[in-house]
Formats: sequence, C-alpha cells, structure tokens
Amino acid sequence: MAPALDAAQARIAEAAARAGRRADEVALVAVSKTFPAEAIRAAAACGQRDFGENYVQEARAKQEELAGLGLVWHFIGPIQSNKTRDIAAHFDWVHGIEREKIARRLSEQRPPGLPPLNVCIQVNVSGEASKSGAAPGEVAALAGVVCNLPGLKLRGLMAIPEAGGDPRPRFRLLCELRDALNAGGLALDTLSMGMSQDLESAILEGATIVRVGTAIFGSRPKPRP
Ligand SMILES: *Cc1c(COP(=O)(O)O)cnc(C)c1O
Repeated sequence: MAPALDAAQARIAEAAARAGRRADEVALVAVSKTFPAEAIRAAAACGQRDFGENYVQEARAKQEELAGLGLVWHFIGPIQSNKTRDIAAHFDWVHGIEREKIARRLSEQRPPGLPPLNVCIQVNVSGEASKSGAAPGEVAALAGVVCNLPGLKLRGLMAIPEAGGDPRPRFRLLCELRDALNAGGLALDTLSMGMSQDLESAILEGATIVRVGTAIFGSRPKPRP
C-alpha cells in the first residue's frame, strides 16, 4: 500500500512541477470502490485521508467499520433519487451533480448539524461519446441554482473524458468553464479531473483533485456483463 500511494503522490508532484504548480494544490482522492475496509485502513495508516466511493451500500458498510478514523468521504458515482438521503447524511463531498432535482434533494436532506455538503457539477466534456454530466451549455444555469441551495456548497466542476481520446482538450474545456463561471461572479476553487491513466494531463490543465483507484489499490474485478 505505502509504495503505491508514494508512487501516486510522486506522479502528482512531478506533474505539478511541470505545470509550475505546487504539489499541495492537488488533492488525492483514493478511489476505494470494490476494495474492502482493510485496504482503506492500510491507506489511512499511511496518511491518506480522502476516499472515493461509487456505491452507497458498499460505502456505508465500510464507513461503519472505519468510523473514528476521521476519514473524508467523496461520493463519485451516479446518483439515484432514492439514494440521496444516505448520501446527504454520510458523505463530505459529492462530485457528480448533473441535475437540479438531485441537487435540491441533497440540500433538503443534508442533516442540519452538518456543514453544507461540498459538491461539484459533473460536465459532459466529450459530447455524444459520454452520457454522464450536464452539457457545457447547461452548466451556468445549473450552477446558478446549486450555489443558492443552503445545504450545499458549490466547490467546482468534475469530468470524466471518454476513454480512448486525448483527454487534454477535455480537461482544458472544464477549466475554461470554471473560469467563465468565476468571471461571472462565482468563486469555484475545485476542478475534479484526472484518474490513474491521465492524472498528469489533468494536473497540467489545472486539476485540484485527482481521483485515483487502480494506481493505488490495484485493478478491480471487471463488472459482469
Ligand atoms: C472508478 C473511478 C475513478 C478511479 O478510476 P481509476 O482508473 O481506477 O483510477 C475515478 N473517478 C470515478 C468517477 C470513478 O468512477
């Protein structure tokens, strides 16, 4: 675990240096989906605090097992309406906001004792090649709604470019969209982009959070068809 985490941090530091940025401007979310609580505990023992999960039930079981470690939980999967209550109550970040309805539910269901839920709007930066995320032309309107929801704190934008193509122009588009929103009066500090395969490209284009699974925990079993 420690060598893999060190290697991921070294990749981040090297890419940040190439981009003329400080390594601590890029946060590492360790994507632990499909891996057991013990793998998370081992990473936490090496100082890793932020973990990303895609499936609510699976995440809840691990959270209960690891309660007390002070971990920061990021929900990075697709969000179904019937899961928003659990997500609002048990996560610190949600990266995949793509619809107003889901954002409103998360805000209403965020328990009053907790700080606002940090959220990113997921943007479809790959056009027809990807089904997930708000279209670039819809982002400003959605951001305008989300930034006024009391239970949420809009932190920025997230994207997953289509596999196969050159991700850099996609990452650049996300950065430009964030800059345009900030020029319009928002103060978004987060670009959640880059995974095991392409974190260097993402950091060169301004990523502030990379979401890395395979490079830390190893390869996941392929989902059955
Ligand atoms: C699984 C997943 C990741 C991690 O992908 P790796 O290629 O294993 O690094 C990052 N982001 C999201 C949204 C994911 O679903």
